[in-house]
Amino acid sequence: MDAIISERTNLLGLTRPSLEAFVAELGSKPFRARQLMQWLYKRGVGSFAEMTDLAKELRARLAERALVQPPQILSVQRSADGTTKWLLEADARQAFEMVFIPEPDRGTLCISSQVGCALDCSFCATAQQGFNRNLSTAEIVGQVWLAEQELARAERARGAEPAAAPHGEQRHVTNVVLMGMGEPLANFRNVVPALQILLDDYGFDLSRRRVTLSTSGLVPQIYKLAEETNVALAVSLHAPDDTLRNELVPINRKHPIAELLQACWHYLDEQNGRSVTFEYVMLAGVNDSPAQARALARLLHGHPAKVNLIPFNPFPGTRYTRSPAPTIQRFRDELLQRGVLATIRRTRGDDIDAACGQLAGRVVDRTTVRLGSKVIGVTVQP
Ligand code: SAH
Repeated sequence: MDAIISERTNLLGLTRPSLEAFVAELGSKPFRARQLMQWLYKRGVGSFAEMTDLAKELRARLAERALVQPPQILSVQRSADGTTKWLLEADARQAFEMVFIPEPDRGTLCISSQVGCALDCSFCATAQQGFNRNLSTAEIVGQVWLAEQELARAERARGAEPAAAPHGEQRHVTNVVLMGMGEPLANFRNVVPALQILLDDYGFDLSRRRVTLSTSGLVPQIYKLAEETNVALAVSLHAPDDTLRNELVPINRKHPIAELLQACWHYLDEQNGRSVTFEYVMLAGVNDSPAQARALARLLHGHPAKVNLIPFNPFPGTRYTRSPAPTIQRFRDELLQRGVLATIRRTRGDDIDAACGQLAGRVVDRTTVRLGSKVIGVTVQP
């Protein structure tokens, strides 16, 4: 069974031009690809038999040669605040996560791009687990496809319409952030086609401002990204000077802050983007002093930048602690007073964060392999 499946092409990994080529190879007109994408992404139908406006012959050939296969769910956790986290299978021994964060005006899905991460940022739980592999385009797109299916199913179970409840929270995916496990720009080859499918009118049809890629600062890939796509860019800055950033985000030794900022402004120029979001994790006594806030303001003042302060989420074995709330507020105010836009990210789903650690432990015992699990995904901007 597995052998047969692996010979078939997973359509969730194909951009529109690739799907057109695939359909042509099966002997049909390329425009059939658009019909196929509408079934897949507009109606969430993955079974070829149900795609009734496609010729029987094409459906039969698709059934032989293709499949629509999102990642398998290993477990689901729901937070009291509505945040939902799925643990997804990468293979028999590895797993990765995605998180859905409902808010009144939007539903944000935080997806992973790799199983683990190789970049070794000192405050990040994923880094501690090391790197296993890149996710395929189909696994990246498949997260969004799966989340849509699961959210719609949950709505049906509740007997509601699959749209937003009038005064409730958004129950489908309106925004996607590549802020889960992994460094998306280190998996450029698979991430870029995934972004194209997210933005494609016949795909998820998300606007460029509703898709955000977050990077720890792979400078050459930011330049390359500017040629390929125009999604919103977020950069994990975390320090106002190279000495500290070298320690927190080791890729800084290769691509220091000045170089990174140049790449960011280039990206905005090329893409006619509004601003870059700089993520800044608040680590008590490390990067959270008013002097550091002022240094950060000097770096960013006059540029199209927003700072998003993230209260540190502790995990077992970490040497860091979260800055106290008044320290974070003071840091934000220092930035605001100097004309730099700054917000504090509201932590969501703390209760399942704890459960997440427990879950990883349970699976680790069973498989003796570390699972890709992280403690940072369940946060959201206020
Ligand atoms: N590798 C990419 C994508 C991860 S995005 C990147 O570095 O941007 C997830 C965000 O959460 C990043 O800004 C990351 O630095 C931050 N983060 C990592 N560990 C954290 C922790 N323990 N607490 C709070 N934020 C953390």
